[in-house]
Amino acid sequence: MHISTCPLCEATCGILVDVEDGQVRSIRGDHDDPFSRGYVCPKATALADLHHDPDRIRTPLIREGSRWREVSWKDALDRAADGLARTRRQYGRDAVAIYYGNPVAHNLGLMTHALPFARALRTRNVYSASSADQLPQMLVALRMFGHLGLIPVPDLERTDFFLVFGANPIVSNGSLMSAPGMGRRLRAIRARGGRVVVVDPRRTETANAADEHVAVRPGTDALLLAAMLHVVFSEGLVNLGRLEGRVSNLDAISALVRGLPPERVARRTGVAPDTTRRLAADFARAKRAACYGRVGLCTQRYGTLASWLAQALNLVTGHLDEEGGMMLTTPAVDVVAILSRLGLRGTYDRWRSRARKLPEFGGELPVAALADEIETGGSANEEHRTGTQIRALVTIAGNPVLSAPNGSRLDRALGTLEHVVSVDPYLNETTRHAHVLLPPASPLSRAHYDLALYAFSVRNVAKYSEPVIARQPAERHDWEIIGELGARMFTPGLLRPLAVRAARTLRPERLVDALLRIGPYPLTLAKLREHPHGVDLGPLEPGRLVARIATADRKVVVAPGDFLQEARDRLFVEADRDMTGELVLIGRRQLRSNNSWMHNSQRLVKGPRVCTLLIHPEDAASRKLATGDLAELGSTAGTVLVPVEVTDAVLPGVVSLPHGWGHDRDGIRLRIAREHAGASINDVTSDLHLDTLSGTAAFNGTAVTVRRV
Ligand code: SF4
Repeated sequence: MHISTCPLCEATCGILVDVEDGQVRSIRGDHDDPFSRGYVCPKATALADLHHDPDRIRTPLIREGSRWREVSWKDALDRAADGLARTRRQYGRDAVAIYYGNPVAHNLGLMTHALPFARALRTRNVYSASSADQLPQMLVALRMFGHLGLIPVPDLERTDFFLVFGANPIVSNGSLMSAPGMGRRLRAIRARGGRVVVVDPRRTETANAADEHVAVRPGTDALLLAAMLHVVFSEGLVNLGRLEGRVSNLDAISALVRGLPPERVARRTGVAPDTTRRLAADFARAKRAACYGRVGLCTQRYGTLASWLAQALNLVTGHLDEEGGMMLTTPAVDVVAILSRLGLRGTYDRWRSRARKLPEFGGELPVAALADEIETGGSANEEHRTGTQIRALVTIAGNPVLSAPNGSRLDRALGTLEHVVSVDPYLNETTRHAHVLLPPASPLSRAHYDLALYAFSVRNVAKYSEPVIARQPAERHDWEIIGELGARMFTPGLLRPLAVRAARTLRPERLVDALLRIGPYPLTLAKLREHPHGVDLGPLEPGRLVARIATADRKVVVAPGDFLQEARDRLFVEADRDMTGELVLIGRRQLRSNNSWMHNSQRLVKGPRVCTLLIHPEDAASRKLATGDLAELGSTAGTVLVPVEVTDAVLPGVVSLPHGWGHDRDGIRLRIAREHAGASINDVTSDLHLDTLSGTAAFNGTAVTVRRV
């Protein structure tokens, strides 16, 4: 029996894997894991399907027209590196773009190798799933606390009031809040007399497990949060706790929300003023409370403002950096501390995309700009701090055709590129455009330490897991592929063999050991190996944020100037907008799905269709739609056909489609996923509908039409 960690999502659940003769016999939860305590979701057992999947690519491929040819690693890596180097020579550094997907964050080898590789490319065209996800929270952390990684998490073990905006942790098991077994954790809050309140346009699985569901109109969370802050200020409920004397610009936020009382925003948010007032007062008066927002809060028109106001609510009610509130972790590998010591705190707006002038953040441009930057001709403009037209692309563990807004347009744009290199185990909707496909070994063949996500655990934990099944000699780990690709690209001819050999010795485990040794605990990799179920390092500590504020005057900036400006320019207008009759789209996360992948596992996709459009009975009746009927869902970006599911779990005027589906494109090698293709929500979302401040895709709140077909 192998003791390991599920590497599929942030929850980092402990697993026990039974292997016989190279075959995975079973995977189950590890009750001795001090963090997950036996919990696993259905995706853990599907790791076996992933490992044995005949569709998983095991040998490097080169595309010739529409045909794929198996080649040796040497030929594939040479072809990949030569094409990228040639593009750089011919068009300049910015002509080579890189996109990396969400699994990079859960993959030790990619964390240690892919991010430095992206930096080594020295291109302004770096893209990732961040700008379709959590980027607003990173921007808020940078602006308020002075470092993009200073993102507090809810202290679930001690809170009495858990207020959730736009998140569904029972399904996600936490996001920027690693918390395996979320159902158990919510039950524990309620069992000790606490409350759980969920604010969401849909009555989600988490809302069903909560004390109260507040149904808010999509895209209006910032208004609701501003109105709650209005109540806190106007009723004299402000309490800064340990942050007293360490906050700047408090008057500015007080003045801003003065103009947004609950009565003014109610028509737009759909939340009754009494509810807003009660919620705000209860939250402020609760001894221990945490306001937490995630993907739904970030991926909307005012994602940064909403994320900011949620954090401001925690701050002005004394629930930031306090037990039971929003707190910072003390991870064993403290990446934020290390980066801070190197003077790397985060960057914003150092350059802009050429076509639409969207701002850089942390060295990346928003993924909503990627198709523009491929399609729009022209070269760098230093005056406007813009790059060059993209001619080549490296994708690593990502499928932006399904996960980025207006995926159909991006799909077409990718087909025009001169050279695409994909590091990916599947021929999917994006990697089918690759000229060279470099497939990494299975997740069960690699070691695991969660460099990124232990920084967001609701309890301080550390765990190192050895590979479960040794990789075959003919296979390569992701980090080996990236290392060898980099060595070939950046080393002159004669030195190449030396560089390639050196790249093979830079094992991720070595780095983990070094980082543990300079971390806050007396830990080494050897010590973690002695505790294969993981090590509990204790509860979150109050005062961590105060000690780490990284702004120039070491005070929390509660009202950053550009946020205030955006609120004055747009949020006030939004408050008075008449949306009568509008139908808007929101996304949906599902327990048996992992964004755009894991759909090639029969055990996960079997059963009733799950890629359905939720629609309220009133909206269904006016369109003569019943459950099971096929409808055309359309927007300015495009249309898809989807079966509808009539339910009062969504508000009138709101429809919901899960993300990550749409496996019906030619050229993919995903036989099971194709049989359960579904429709891609991103064939309908628009790459023009963005959070202005961060450029993050505003998936939620897209105006749509629905008609019976
Ligand atoms: S919640 Fe599921 S997918 Fe995520 S780590 Fe746990 S078992 Fe894996």
